[in-house]
Amino acid sequence: MTDTRPTTTDSGIPVASDEHSLTVGPDGPILLNDHYLIEQMANFNRERIPERQPHAKGGGAFGHFEVTNDVSAYTSASVFQPGAKTEMLARFSTVAGERGSPDTWRDPRGFALKFYTDEGNLDIVGNNVPIFFIRDPLKFQHFIRSQKRRAANNLRDHDMQWDFWTLVPESAHMLSWLMGDRGIPKTWRHMNGYSSHTYSWVNASGELFWVKYHFKTDQGIEFLTQEEGDELAGADGDYHQRDLYDAIEAGNHPSWTLKMQIMPFEDAKTYRINPFDLTKVWPHGDYPLIDVGTMTLDRNVTDYHTEMEQAAFEPNNIVPGTGLSPDKMLLARGFSYADAHRARLGVNYKQIPVNSAKVEVHSYSKDGVGRTVNVSDPVYAPNSYGGPKADPAKTNEALWYSDGEMVRQAYTLREEDDDWGQAGKMVREVLDDAARERLVGNVAGHLSDGVSEPILARAFEYWKNIDKEIGDRIEQAVRNGG
Ligand code: NDP
Repeated sequence: MTDTRPTTTDSGIPVASDEHSLTVGPDGPILLNDHYLIEQMANFNRERIPERQPHAKGGGAFGHFEVTNDVSAYTSASVFQPGAKTEMLARFSTVAGERGSPDTWRDPRGFALKFYTDEGNLDIVGNNVPIFFIRDPLKFQHFIRSQKRRAANNLRDHDMQWDFWTLVPESAHMLSWLMGDRGIPKTWRHMNGYSSHTYSWVNASGELFWVKYHFKTDQGIEFLTQEEGDELAGADGDYHQRDLYDAIEAGNHPSWTLKMQIMPFEDAKTYRINPFDLTKVWPHGDYPLIDVGTMTLDRNVTDYHTEMEQAAFEPNNIVPGTGLSPDKMLLARGFSYADAHRARLGVNYKQIPVNSAKVEVHSYSKDGVGRTVNVSDPVYAPNSYGGPKADPAKTNEALWYSDGEMVRQAYTLREEDDDWGQAGKMVREVLDDAARERLVGNVAGHLSDGVSEPILARAFEYWKNIDKEIGDRIEQAVRNGG
């Protein structure tokens, strides 16, 4: 089909040529008053925006979330009421690599969701793993730096990674998970998503529950071995991005079933595990999964930059009937995500269409770089001129009681709050022999790539603390040449 639309400048003025700059005669110098040429060069020079600090490489799609069960006893959020269907966006990502890094490196995968609900946007910014490396936000920046590049040679460095991990034993559960099969998913379609954090839900009567979100893949869990991942990293760095895009284009729409773990408010006080510790799961036997609904991705973005690169997810986008929890990591993320978006996309990032709510916005924010939505008087509250008024009856906030001295301390330890127990249980009871064998091989291979003493010896001790036999096998494999 012939396109009859004329090329224009960004101001809509028809341009004279797509091919030739304005010159003094065909062989003469280029003229500064070729406005279109200069506009194109200037735009090109500014096409890249700062990439995300972690989670730089990613992709995703639009879809919808449909409730299939009645969980109204636990939350008043309209998005989770029986029969509700809500438009949504998902973004999957690796963590440590840059925007051009291969999809199949061993790494956790981001699993970020935005639900455009009729009570405002709800974001669940999770990972494909139910836990995390650390439990205090003061360590987060240091952790990410240890996974990225060294100052002098600008190289990623296993010595630096294991130095951090072995000095921070709370990483043991997450590392056992990362070094196992799920550390390189076959595709984004073949992995689960977890809120990882404990959040809260409040029902219409104001009763509060602690909850964890589990998005279980309907495609089944599949993984790549280290060798397969390494090979693909060279042959097709965008393997996961391509897989999701092509599947959706072919009408093969991936879906996930949302299941919740729900803990009554009072249980948290006496539960044998601190339920807000991000390095721990709640055993399924204690809090079984309750079905909520299905998320299906069925529409690719048409402009990656505007709809994916500029997508901004933040855990503090919580709608009435949902809320945060005393998890220190989550409370810090509430600040840091919005701050990262302001730094990367500008203070008005919520007006970028992919981030904007599908309900009317009546906030008192005004001005700032990149604002596109008009503000009208009155510009302050309270006022006598008919501006919006907060209505607490609409918010059903999840609030809890807190009191105590101001301290710098770890969480108070409970009966089962050690760093090794759940990791050991996974290695011994969840993995089969073949999976354990691959785990040993993956860890030994990683440790044999540039990890020096005394960090190496510390790493063997670390694994022996998780499971003596696995630790011995890892040490033997490394001592025998990796
Ligand atoms: P369960 O036997 O009920 O759960 C074990 C879970 O382990 C499975 O449901 C599955 O999670 C997950 N799993 C299976 N294979 C692997 C693998 N290769 N790598 C990582 N995870 C895998 O026991 P518990 O709930 O008592 O948990 C036992 C251990 O399982 C925990 O210590 C934890 O390490 C791990 N685990 C627990 C989860 C939880 O929320 N309770 C979630 C994931 C792991 P899924 O169904 O989500 O795919």
